[in-house]
Amino acid sequence: EIEIRGLHKSFGDNHVLRGIDLDIARGEVVCVIGPSGSGKSTLLRCVNLLEEPERGQVFVGGTEVTDLDVDIDAVRRRIGMVFQQFNLFPHVSVTANLTLPQRRVLGTDKARAAAVARENLERVGLSDKADAFPAQLSGGQQQRVAIARALSMGPEVMLFDEPTSALDPELVGEVLSVMRVLAGEGMTMMVVTHEMTFAREVADRVVFMDGGVIVEQGPASQVITRPQHERTRNFLNRIL
Ligand code: ATP
Ligand code: MG
Repeated sequence: EIEIRGLHKSFGDNHVLRGIDLDIARGEVVCVIGPSGSGKSTLLRCVNLLEEPERGQVFVGGTEVTDLDVDIDAVRRRIGMVFQQFNLFPHVSVTANLTLPQRRVLGTDKARAAAVARENLERVGLSDKADAFPAQLSGGQQQRVAIARALSMGPEVMLFDEPTSALDPELVGEVLSVMRVLAGEGMTMMVVTHEMTFAREVADRVVFMDGGVIVEQGPASQVITRPQHERTRNFLNRIL
């Protein structure tokens, strides 16, 4: 579903991605771990063209998104992204957060957009908050709304960039369990996270990045439990 080939990205003379090759199959859940500054966010952002890759290719569902002639908006419609900061529209209701992008970007009619919004709020367990405003919700609820909003666009793949890092510890679980259900439904997911329990239990594969390269990857039972590389061991020792 996602194919990344020889991807490089620099900011000025900071060579952040130094040749990333990664394939993610349809329905696969891949967790990306690694130290701060290793290029995890940049990698995700190159997949949906929030950053312009400098060299290499990215394919999503067979379409080369790095093709210069590609319709960037059409690509982004197929890719849902959830950030550490939830980025909800603060001045409109939860429902409107879900219906406005559908109306504006997809041209969905009002009734259909409302039905899709209802369905996705139910999916994240927030049907009772449809009329609330973002500021009236907890961080965990806001992040679940952000997930529902991304799902309302009918994406083929979902990218998560540390979706629980801004949350109080007691709110992390409710967001992870929504992600767990999504994974179980067969969504293709690329998840940057420091939640090793989630990675261990949900990921089909764990990718460890350091210094802009993939140092090692494999099933969580291998990468997290029996890392082969010194750099992976050092990282895990620091965070576990
Ligand atoms: P963290 O765990 O802290 O989120 P990360 O692995 O996601 O780290 P990136 O955010 O991808 O790391 O950053 C990798 C490097 O690229 C860092 O040195 C960062 O300063 C730099 N960088 C990222 N985005 C930009 C940008 N828009 N302009 C300039 N430099 C950037
Ligand atoms: Mg990051």
